Amino acid sequence: MIVDAHVHLLPERVRKDRSRYCANDPSFGSVYSSEKARLVSEDEILEYLDKSGIDKAVVFGFPWENPDLAQQNNDEVWAFYQRHPSRIIPFAVLPCGKREAAKKEAARTLEGGFFGLGELAMYHQGWSLADFEALSPSLRLAQSKKVPVVIHVNEPVGHHYPGKIPVDFRGLLRIIGAHPEVDFILAHFGGGLFFYALMPEVARILERTYLDTAASPYLYDSRVFEVALTIVGPEKILFGSDYPLLPMPRYVKELDTAGIDGRVREGILGKNVLRLLPRVTC
Ligand SMILES: [Zn+2]
Repeated sequence: MIVDAHVHLLPERVRKDRSRYCANDPSFGSVYSSEKARLVSEDEILEYLDKSGIDKAVVFGFPWENPDLAQQNNDEVWAFYQRHPSRIIPFAVLPCGKREAAKKEAARTLEGGFFGLGELAMYHQGWSLADFEALSPSLRLAQSKKVPVVIHVNEPVGHHYPGKIPVDFRGLLRIIGAHPEVDFILAHFGGGLFFYALMPEVARILERTYLDTAASPYLYDSRVFEVALTIVGPEKILFGSDYPLLPMPRYVKELDTAGIDGRVREGILGKNVLRLLPRVTC
């Protein structure tokens, strides 16, 4: 069973009129103002899954600053799931900069049956300690529903690209430590935070934290797999493509180069994320 843990669906009206949404939502504009940043339809996602031999995908929208847009995008992801319940695993985005609105949307979507929260991000200003702490009410809801939470985290160094933001690692660790019963999935190899799991006190905090591979061929050489496997273990790494940013074959190539096969590869490509999603039937 192959599962892509990181796929984005943006509404049709956004795809057709992206400049208006870029102007109205600074977070969206910071990632999608370039026409090179692709936006895809439901059909294109299904075609991608079929072509790549992917059985299921975790699908989410964009973490709009505007609560109405977050809600609409979530509703569209839900409708996609309803049309293709055996292929799509719906997660809900939240307007993370607005604590009360985020909590309300987390409650609405999780009561409605969403399988997780994410990808949560603060693309406009970056993640501060206060932003992470403001997620707390939503994280408590995720905890009560026993669903995972995907957080966008990127590396603090290296080249710049749209969507790369400052991330307060101390704030992130604090919020993870404060919710020990939540399964966190840190996107993009957690921006390298996992390195600090070599410190025993950080390892304890990251006990239920997973890393997805989204965008890694753009960021790291394939040794990132070997290093992450050594530090966090084979069951903590989840294949996520960030489609339409990159399709699956780019990741398969990295796994081949890194010499990852057998059970470890099976885990990364699907089994690991399925353990976090007991409601998903195979
Ligand atoms: Zn991301």
